[in-house]
Amino acid sequence: MAESKTQQRGLGKELREALASFWDGSVRWDAPMAEYCTLRAGGRAAAMVVVDDQAGLSRLIKWLTAQDIRRRVIGRGSNILVSSRGFDGVVIVLGRGFCEIKPEQALTGEAEKYLVRAGAGCSAAGFLGWCVRQGLTGLEFMAGIPGSVGGAVCMNAGAWGKETGQVVETVCLVDRRGGYHELGEDTVVFAYRSMQFKKPEYEQSIVTGAVFRLRPGNQRQIIETCRRHVAARKEKQPAGAASAGSFFKNPPGDSAGRLIEAAGLKGLRRGEAMVSEKHANFIVNMGNATADDIMALAREVQSRVFEQSGIHLEPEVHLL
Ligand SMILES: Cc1cc2nc3c(=O)[nH]c(=O)nc-3n(C[C@H](O)[C@H](O)[C@H](O)COP(=O)(O)OP(=O)(O)OC[C@H]3O[C@@H](n4cnc5c(N)ncnc54)[C@H](O)[C@@H]3O)c2cc1C
Repeated sequence: MAESKTQQRGLGKELREALASFWDGSVRWDAPMAEYCTLRAGGRAAAMVVVDDQAGLSRLIKWLTAQDIRRRVIGRGSNILVSSRGFDGVVIVLGRGFCEIKPEQALTGEAEKYLVRAGAGCSAAGFLGWCVRQGLTGLEFMAGIPGSVGGAVCMNAGAWGKETGQVVETVCLVDRRGGYHELGEDTVVFAYRSMQFKKPEYEQSIVTGAVFRLRPGNQRQIIETCRRHVAARKEKQPAGAASAGSFFKNPPGDSAGRLIEAAGLKGLRRGEAMVSEKHANFIVNMGNATADDIMALAREVQSRVFEQSGIHLEPEVHLL
């Protein structure tokens, strides 16, 4: 979701003071975003606010919208990069009150499907672990995908031919005026690595959770499938390296990794950013890469792949 299209005001001195007197919780000023994203690079956010409950979130969003202040919610930062110049707005993190997992009905194992509500702040791995313990199937594709439930919904995260949107019944959100809604497929559209709304009034909303449609399954098989997925990732991906996963989206009918490898770009470096030798669609931070290094490398990859194949690679990573 593109969140900051219409909210253009950065946090100058006056607005910092206004935020400090409006918000009664803590604010981290000039937050170093490298600490909050898996690429371990990027500039500072003018302010970071952790919101712990829905009432607080509605109040904050309403105020930020009224002040026309630029803002962005992040999950676990596994698919974002903040530019070296920084993000001149408010970064919102969903805290404790958004981490609950609650079945909508008793899990007797007798029904064909179960609806389970998960808060956007839960880690995707934590939610998957909960499903495994309950013997619920449907989310195994998520094994090894870092991030939060909110991030997985907004990115329509997926792997092995499956996507988050396929198991989402309802998306719960707070709109830019602070109103709470639960929306189904008549309003929410999932596409490749994106979620959008059919109605403009929901643009720039913050996802607070989702209701997932799962089925009772064989716990041993569920564990086995998760292990297989994790093992396959370890084999193909640069485990342990700082990255954001696949940097570019796959173009229709092809794979970004294949195109980058065919252009001979594995191992290409800009500063301490490098195209992984193991998986060509991973840009890894070798240690002290800056967001500028990463972006310069990404642009070089785009232009050399275009020269070679005529295909323009679009970043999957969201740039703030
Ligand atoms: C090693 C590695 C492997 C990966 N493998 C995969 C994979 O196989 N498949 C895949 O799809 N992805 C993969 N990813 C990318 C990433 O893990 C997913 O996109 C993940 O779902 C992002 O979740 P997050 O909480 O980290 O979101 P963030 O990176 O924090 O945010 C991503 C975007 O979502 C928005 N957002 C986040 N939360 C909310 C919210 N509550 N409301 C509104 N907007 C929100 C942010 O503003 C941002 O635009 C991988 C990443 C890494 C590092």
